[in-house]
Amino acid sequence: MRLNNKVALITGAGSGIGLQTALRFAEEGARIVAVDINEENGRETVEQITQRGGEAAYCRADVSSAADCAEMINFAESTFGNLHVLFNNAGIMDSRDDDAESTEEEVWDLTMNVNVKGVFLGCKYGIPALRRAGGGSIINTASFVAFIGAATSQIAYTTSKGAVLSMTKELAVRHARENIRVNALCPGPLRTELLMKFLNTEAKKQRRLVHIPMGRFGEAREMADAALFLASDESSYMTGSELLVDGGITAAYVTPE
Ligand code: NAD
Repeated sequence: MRLNNKVALITGAGSGIGLQTALRFAEEGARIVAVDINEENGRETVEQITQRGGEAAYCRADVSSAADCAEMINFAESTFGNLHVLFNNAGIMDSRDDDAESTEEEVWDLTMNVNVKGVFLGCKYGIPALRRAGGGSIINTASFVAFIGAATSQIAYTTSKGAVLSMTKELAVRHARENIRVNALCPGPLRTELLMKFLNTEAKKQRRLVHIPMGRFGEAREMADAALFLASDESSYMTGSELLVDGGITAAYVTPE
């Protein structure tokens, strides 16, 4: 198994990419700390893992809170002894997020607090734990919008994901000689609750789909497979990189008929 004897903490584990990754990592032998602000969904993830014979524990945390992030890392070490994989995946896309003129300051601040500060805090408290374990892998969820502007305006979200990508590179350089690898997973548009709520009309969905060479939204499970590669020793010479898993959207100038 590809993650045997590893302990992995996943934020946003109650839904979408986080849920599918928790299930996938557990299948590969990892013990999972499922972190989510939504307690019901987080506990449901743990339930699904244990039903399949895996090992997991739920920890409630709001990733934008320093105290919660310190606690989730303590929880991981006190529950499973060590921490080897930190997947800073929780993120939000506010339906009020729009262009610069119409987006409220409150929406900007909320998005930055969860999407950017959340990753920073995960690393701030998680890195010492990975160091204590002799090294490990950090995966930060950015997005394809860190590379190109989105067709449907989302100024705060796009900016937040650019920041996640830069932060990832900075962290990777700093911690490379400590055997701590840091990479960014950059999903394309996915058929998860987060995006489907944002693209809440058929017209908005089509507006996005038209740009994707593969002509479909991605699945959270497809991101979980990519995260598994970054978490495992198979990516041992990879740090400071972005892994784009996006149906070709970032490569497209015009979309094939
Ligand atoms: P999702 O909404 O299905 O899941 C996100 C989870 O994060 C939810 O369970 C939610 O409760 C949790 N969460 C939200 N705020 C939190 C907080 N403050 N503290 C702790 N947990 C919190 O979304 P998803 O599509 O699985 O997205 C996961 C990540 O992937 C996000 O960072 C998102 O920006 C990114 N992403 C998604 C897409 C997409 O198309 N869905 C594309 C690119 C990147």
